[in-house]
Amino acid sequence: MVLQVQGPRVLLRRMREVMARPEAAQARLDKIVSLIAANMVAEVCSIYVVRPGSNDLELFASEGLKSSAVHKSTLLAGEGLVGFIAHQAEPLSLSDAQAHPAFKYLPETGEEIYSSFLGVPIMRHGVVSGVLVVQNQVKRAYAEEEEEALQTVAMVLAEVIATPDVQSELEAVGNGAELTGSYHITGEGLVDGVALGHVVLHEPRVIVTRFIAEDVEEERSRLDVAIDQLQAQVDQLADRRPGQFSSDFEDVLETVRMFARDRGWLRKLREAVATGLTAEAAVERVQSDTRARMARQSDPYLRERLHDLDDIANRLLRILTGAEEKASRTELPKDSIVVARTMGPAELLDYDPSRLRGLVLEVAGSTSHVAIVARALGVTAVGSARSVSDLAEDGQEIIIDGGSGDVHVRPSQDVQQVYTEKVRLYAKRQAQYAKMRDIPAVTLDGRHIDLSINAGLMVDLPHLEAAGAQGIGLFRTELQFMLARRFPRFGEQKRFYESILQGAGDRPVVFRTLDIGSDKVLPYLTSVKEENPAIGWRAIRMALDRPALLRLQLRALISAAAGKVLRVMFPMISETSEMVRARELVDLECRFLEDRGYELPREIKVGAMIEVPALVWQLDQLLPHTDFVSIGSNDLMQFMFAADRQHPKLAGRYDVLSPAALKVMDMIRESCERHSTALTLCGEMAGSSLEAMALIALGFRSISMAPTSIGPVKQMLLKLDSVKAGAFLRDHFDSAAPSLREPLVGFARQHKIPL
Ligand code: PEP
Ligand code: MG
Repeated sequence: MVLQVQGPRVLLRRMREVMARPEAAQARLDKIVSLIAANMVAEVCSIYVVRPGSNDLELFASEGLKSSAVHKSTLLAGEGLVGFIAHQAEPLSLSDAQAHPAFKYLPETGEEIYSSFLGVPIMRHGVVSGVLVVQNQVKRAYAEEEEEALQTVAMVLAEVIATPDVQSELEAVGNGAELTGSYHITGEGLVDGVALGHVVLHEPRVIVTRFIAEDVEEERSRLDVAIDQLQAQVDQLADRRPGQFSSDFEDVLETVRMFARDRGWLRKLREAVATGLTAEAAVERVQSDTRARMARQSDPYLRERLHDLDDIANRLLRILTGAEEKASRTELPKDSIVVARTMGPAELLDYDPSRLRGLVLEVAGSTSHVAIVARALGVTAVGSARSVSDLAEDGQEIIIDGGSGDVHVRPSQDVQQVYTEKVRLYAKRQAQYAKMRDIPAVTLDGRHIDLSINAGLMVDLPHLEAAGAQGIGLFRTELQFMLARRFPRFGEQKRFYESILQGAGDRPVVFRTLDIGSDKVLPYLTSVKEENPAIGWRAIRMALDRPALLRLQLRALISAAAGKVLRVMFPMISETSEMVRARELVDLECRFLEDRGYELPREIKVGAMIEVPALVWQLDQLLPHTDFVSIGSNDLMQFMFAADRQHPKLAGRYDVLSPAALKVMDMIRESCERHSTALTLCGEMAGSSLEAMALIALGFRSISMAPTSIGPVKQMLLKLDSVKAGAFLRDHFDSAAPSLREPLVGFARQHKIPL
């Protein structure tokens, strides 16, 4: 049998007629399955709907399968071909369905006689709410146009499924989410702070009510006008707040502008309108694909870029439906905590920042563009908060902790009390730290300690001044590269480093050259799949094998520091010879620039990071080639204990305060003193007061940490007698205990040292 499709336009027109009749949803769905089966010359057309709560799929309407199976036959989440489609959120076309490993035979439906199968997910708001299937007895391959047509129809169906009739029927069976009672979610802290307030649900998607075009030409021109408006609007975004933001933020805006002109996206929109959808339905149809791709994308960078595209699609939808000026965005209540499934950077800018207390997102990591914008605006934020937008309702109370990632929806009185106290303490502590800003960081026994911050973006620079830090002890240059769309050119790199040096003023900045590889992936650089990326081809290893990238970066750094002192250090040095070669490249670039008339830095200090244990036994050879060294304790400890620093099961298993770890730190300090080489430590341990106390006790005089740690660490050291603490620590060096944490806490308590 040869199948023919009359095209989605005819089908959509018929569906419009069905939808226009005042009928119950079930009757509509029954008619729609018959229409689809006839239009696609299929013997079976069925709709399976996801039951909220359990995610089981219920056969809700069918033409061709036994009617006794409707509402009786169910597939568990992920079960059978239908469950497989719902899970993958992707269409599936098979000429021999029974041969597919996921096939599950449902005897009550009588489907055993059908060989070919085409199923598409029914998606709403990027979430699968059902599966639409057609089946035929003959073994046949469905054409791409048939699959496309079914997807378009599925989009319209998603709206019918979302109607209260269908949902109430499902909830009678399933366990619909309770939107009362308190709920606790642990997400990922994105921007530190504690916020108590009321939920403002961000509506990432405008509700489309007209799906099927009456006049395709008219829809085409509506779409074109809206696209012009969108592009103009996005161009204006940057002008609205000129010069207020940093260059990485400008980069975000540039990406948004670029997406608004993305040819592939615009072409898909026009194609969707040509199938007979209204302009807004076409945007939603293309958006559904983007969201499905987003859900499948495991590369965090690409996922973030798909979010940006989703953001632009929402903006276009708002223009098309006239919902553009949503009052709530500018007239927010004072204590608003915006809750969203996902949000693009441009959308966050629509909110009045002075009224925004917090932001909670279901899908967003700390490197996402929206997190960067939130940080720039100083808005407490939590990401990866699963299902939060389904669990919270407008106006309900909510508490978020941007440090721990905790979110409490409709918190109980007890929780509210605890957090009210936490906010008070947080504010009090911040005020205390701010007061200590100008007090010199000197221990009770008169040792001055250099407290510097770790940074990586322009937005980090104001923290230097606010925390009263000595300088930037670690500038992770790879962050600029990770946020860019392509490898930053010489001029872009140079300008970026210039603005960092200018922002830091007289304070020293230690630039670490690119530490890419391992978990730090540049999307535009093809990476090789490795068994053990953390100990693979990364950082200086990659840089020395492909010196062009490192040379370009060094050239940009050297020229950016014209007339100033440049401090540059290399990550993951494992052998002295690597340091020697890296240093030679610095000299080579100086000569290159000098020959071309560039002004060179007044002085260049070159350093190595101590992150690989083997280097500890080469210090006598290495130190003569370095002006300073910095311990990267995060990596050094993971390699010393052979314990992946990202592995949740290993977190806290080995302690940096173990005698073994502290002895290694002490060996390094001793070698540096002997060679008169400046030493600092810039791993996470420097930012914890107890660990910092141990380091100062060992004789460390310089440590670099996250800006928020400067206050607590300074408060600790002002009450510390480093000589006494050193003697105490060394007395415990030969202990067989796995950690000296307890005795150190005891020492701090005894001497009233605040931790
Ligand atoms: C370290 O390893 O301690 C370090 C500071 O570098 P990163 O955390 O960037 O690997
Ligand atoms: Mg490291």
